[in-house]
Amino acid sequence: MKGKTRFAPSPTGYLHEGHLLSALYVWAAARKWDLSIHLRIEDHDQERAKPEHIAAIREDLQWLGFAWQSESIQSSHFDRFEKKLKELQEKGLVYPCYCSRKELDAENPKNEYGEVIYQGKCSFETKESSLPHSLRVKILDKVIYWNDLRLGDFEENPKFQCGDFPIRDRIGQWTYQFAVCTDDIEEGITHVIRGEDIRNSTARQIALMELMGRPEPPKYLHHALIVDASGKKLSKREKAHSIRQDREAGVSPQELLGRVLFKAGLQASAAPTDLNTALDLICQHL
Ligand SMILES: [Zn+2]
Repeated sequence: MKGKTRFAPSPTGYLHEGHLLSALYVWAAARKWDLSIHLRIEDHDQERAKPEHIAAIREDLQWLGFAWQSESIQSSHFDRFEKKLKELQEKGLVYPCYCSRKELDAENPKNEYGEVIYQGKCSFETKESSLPHSLRVKILDKVIYWNDLRLGDFEENPKFQCGDFPIRDRIGQWTYQFAVCTDDIEEGITHVIRGEDIRNSTARQIALMELMGRPEPPKYLHHALIVDASGKKLSKREKAHSIRQDREAGVSPQELLGRVLFKAGLQASAAPTDLNTALDLICQHL
């Protein structure tokens, strides 16, 4: 094996067609570039993660024919996250932010995705307080140059995309950005394959990984998403329609794969397709 990639669903619901497309890209990339596959259950959001969804992720992937070489679950990594936080704190790179959601919205500009570009208010004030606060990482004012294996070159400065961002939220939960960066480093991930909807997180993740001491970022590939007939992303209702529901309705894995390939524009019809053929087809698009 020449590297390692990961499939990293959150157990906040059942897998749907969007997850299946993502899994196809991950397994195709593994085939093309000789990578081992790590299944990471991203249950860092303990409020929304459900045990029944964790079991269902494994069962649904196995039913579809996917196999993986290693596995981890983020809720068992809290010691690892504490350690990384401490290292950043010792470097003076973390500060508490007491801003409420309302204040964040009112006092900061937003980027094109509607996210707050934090202007650093709490980094200029020293405040000792027991009030609820998040922890933010101080990022550098620095352009990140990165290459997407499908979309080409990017030049982005996270300072102007999002500013200093939270690594732990106000109720003490680790954030997606921090958990992902820590795990991608600790698990030795060399290739990150995921949907275009997360593309704008890449520069800030590379910036954070640099601060954590990873010299070389992973390689990235952001695949196109399944869109409806009008070109819009899957709606909540379509997402709610799960692989599990199809299974229970008697749909075969081959029928489901054919349908997803068709919806993603990778196959001219929704004809049933086996997993091996689907992966070969996607390899041609990598
Ligand atoms: Zn603040």
